[in-house]
Amino acid sequence: MSRVQALEKIEEYFQSGGFESDLGQRIAYKTESNLPNCDVALKSYLEENLSPYLQELDFTCTIHPNPRADAGPFLVAYRSEGDDLPTVMTYGHGDVVAGYDDKWDNKMNPWEITKIGNRWYGRGTADNKGQHTINLASLKAVIETRGQLGFNVIVLIEMGEERGSPGLREFCAANKNLFNADVFIASDGPRTAPEMPTIFMGARGVLNFTMRLNSHTGAHHSGNWGGLLTNPGVVMAHALASMIDRNGKILVEGWRNTTLSKSVREAIAKLKVGGGEGSPEINPNWGEPGMTPEERVFGSNTFEVRAFETGNPQFPANAIPSNAVAFGHLRYVVGTQPEELIPMLRLHLDRHGFEDITITSEPDPMYATRLEPNHPWVLWIAKSLTHTAGADIAIVPNLGGSLPNDVFSEVLGLPTIWVPHSYAGCSQHAPNEHILETTSQSALKLMTGLWWDLGESGTP
Ligand SMILES: [Zn+2]
Repeated sequence: MSRVQALEKIEEYFQSGGFESDLGQRIAYKTESNLPNCDVALKSYLEENLSPYLQELDFTCTIHPNPRADAGPFLVAYRSEGDDLPTVMTYGHGDVVAGYDDKWDNKMNPWEITKIGNRWYGRGTADNKGQHTINLASLKAVIETRGQLGFNVIVLIEMGEERGSPGLREFCAANKNLFNADVFIASDGPRTAPEMPTIFMGARGVLNFTMRLNSHTGAHHSGNWGGLLTNPGVVMAHALASMIDRNGKILVEGWRNTTLSKSVREAIAKLKVGGGEGSPEINPNWGEPGMTPEERVFGSNTFEVRAFETGNPQFPANAIPSNAVAFGHLRYVVGTQPEELIPMLRLHLDRHGFEDITITSEPDPMYATRLEPNHPWVLWIAKSLTHTAGADIAIVPNLGGSLPNDVFSEVLGLPTIWVPHSYAGCSQHAPNEHILETTSQSALKLMTGLWWDLGESGTP
């Protein structure tokens, strides 16, 4: 039996409607983890669908309760072939964001697959049911072709990723013995372009915070009080202007991070951001000076004012507002210490005379992670995917966005490689979420080739 036969088997699975049927059954579960009363759907997805599917493939499945009482369960499934063989950990999430059932084009039902041209619509097609369905079906194709995998697998499926993965860190930290693996390979998020096979090895972190200034109680008539009272909106605008210049350069001492290793810089140099239908135009002069647009989004820290309000913008009054509020966030790369960020901002505001502005930050920031693009596992996976694709692939050191990847890379200490099967225009988290048929078809082959190669000798 050969690699070619495994690739033929997965193509047949796709052509005969197997993929559509497996995915369709999973899309039907309304696993909207952010809505109340979703407990039954979250549990059923694991109990009725994924566990039987994996048990058929000789996996031992256990559904574990979440250490946080209000959050969905975890499925941990094992398939062991031998202690001397490599072990891969893979991951997916079975929960989705709300369906927004009546907001889809052409009255499409988000809980079933609707095919229009190259697009397969349905809630969870891209994020993340389609992606883990591709990876599990590819494992199955290798088992059926070879009779075995040639490696051990640990599958972890969580049901709360869209809520910020409550309990995931605690669960993994308390059960490290369940996740004794050599490498972590999973799929979520977008490729750099629909037809460009992509891997990424981590994500930027993100810290959300709020700045508030209350100058006095109640709004006061500007004719009677203008010139006598502090305007908190003006003061807040100056505070923000002291934090970032008008071209997006960060001015808070310690918040910038421009250190890129040679291999990260070289990997980023091969990437091209932006473009594509409906994308906004990039401002080449925005952000960290001296960096390319790609280095800025993948390799630097970026500060955004997410929202900013003073007075009542809906009904502006001729008055001096009582307060101002700004919601900011910093996305940051590896090497930035998140616990130092708010103290640095405090020091900055105090030094610039903004002692009255209070800062509160959200708990549980997402941490920044990254694996060097020249890590042996990255090179090995890139080689396998390039072999199957017959062309170069995109290697992204870390996503510009954020993922709970530090649980796997830091808590479990695994080299983490993500092979995304979606694309930026997939409308995840919005009505009309979809995957592309051509991308899914290519992803099934890439993953089958990858699992096939993992069972051969010569892994790192
Ligand atoms: Zn999502």
